[in-house]
Amino acid sequence: MTALRRTMIFCVAMILWALTAGVSVLAQEKSAASASQQVMVIRAGTLIDGKSDSPRRNQSIVIRGNRIESVSDTGNAKIPAGANVIDLSRATVLPGLIDSHTHIFLQGEDPSRGGYDANILNYPLSFRAARATVAARRALEQGFTTLRDVETEGAGYGDVGIKKAIEEGYIPGPRLFVSTRAISTTAGYPLEGYAPELKMPTGAQLIDGPIEARKAAREQLGHGADWIKVYMTHRSWAGKNGELVSQPTLTVEELKAVVDETHGWGKKVACHAYGGIGLHRALDGGCDSIEHGLDLDDAAIAQMLNQGTWYCPTLSVYYYDWEPADTPAGKRDRLRASLHEESFKKAMKAGLKIVFGTDIGGIPWTDSIAQEFPRMVELGMSPMEAIKSATSRAAEMLDMAGQIGVIVPGAYADVVALASDPLQNIKQLEQIRFVMKDGKVFKNELQ
Ligand SMILES: [Zn+2]
Repeated sequence: MTALRRTMIFCVAMILWALTAGVSVLAQEKSAASASQQVMVIRAGTLIDGKSDSPRRNQSIVIRGNRIESVSDTGNAKIPAGANVIDLSRATVLPGLIDSHTHIFLQGEDPSRGGYDANILNYPLSFRAARATVAARRALEQGFTTLRDVETEGAGYGDVGIKKAIEEGYIPGPRLFVSTRAISTTAGYPLEGYAPELKMPTGAQLIDGPIEARKAAREQLGHGADWIKVYMTHRSWAGKNGELVSQPTLTVEELKAVVDETHGWGKKVACHAYGGIGLHRALDGGCDSIEHGLDLDDAAIAQMLNQGTWYCPTLSVYYYDWEPADTPAGKRDRLRASLHEESFKKAMKAGLKIVFGTDIGGIPWTDSIAQEFPRMVELGMSPMEAIKSATSRAAEMLDMAGQIGVIVPGAYADVVALASDPLQNIKQLEQIRFVMKDGKVFKNELQ
């Protein structure tokens, strides 16, 4: 073959390739455009929109692509031609739910199954990632379309990978706000209780001093953390006078370095804190949310109100895995639950900004996430307030107000439904029968 002929063949091949590649790019763009134009209408018998104080009857929600376009009375609704109608006229429709405290990489802490340590010691990361994938799916099946996942418990940046796999459509799952490794201090997080000669892995990144603290925050933010999680208390026990004592971890200076760095990235810091010194350091250091807050004293509540700090109580998990009543650990377990109830009531009375969170992962993923709702309502929160704590209020904490946690024009089409009225019986939120995330129906058992 002559050089000229070779060049000609090459040129023709290139032109053909360019043409077919062009066509396929065009086809992709066309299908993306038609998907973004796809219109759906949900006819809602009862609509709890996540924001209003009372439900509305017979509403039509028009969804174009992945966004809500309009919400109006079904009688007056203008239904675009060719719209796909989903009839939920006998159901209660709500925004996709938000759990603001989860651990997709944790799979229960049952002592008879090796407790917390088994999570880290017994399983390769690939196995843990597989279980986290199932956990994410479980959350979506139960109507939780957004999670703030607050630490991977020794699984490094695995949450960033799961989030990416969900966003790219490889696996189903909620919108994830991830916090990667979390930060505590030396002797401030398990694994613990092994021979001191052994170098054990730890569930969190341990730092000492403001320089290491800032460096850890930079590493985690650099690798994709949406939030930074800090442990401000660790061990707890019943003290001499029946009080709950919690071991503090980071100093105010260490925490301030983390908070300063994280706020500089436009992100927020969630602080695990039970009470006492560690809780006060958390507030003095400028934490954006207090996790658990089992033992909120009046000064802490006043400071939280003043600073606009969020409170994510996670009640349910403290009723799991109690040690026998006559042991020190058993006394502590019961004390934690009873103080928690009082703290929750005080927080409500004071008007703290409360968000729904479960700590699921500490609870087995086979259990119900929505079990937290009746806990909140039994302690005096109205069903509507409890729903808001898992919708619009959580969205506000996540800087997603108007985008998620509400059914209003412009929001992402994250919509769930159930056959009964959760305002009459809050437990019914365990029976979510319809789930749409980002404009796509994930499950529909109502039609
Ligand atoms: Zn937790």
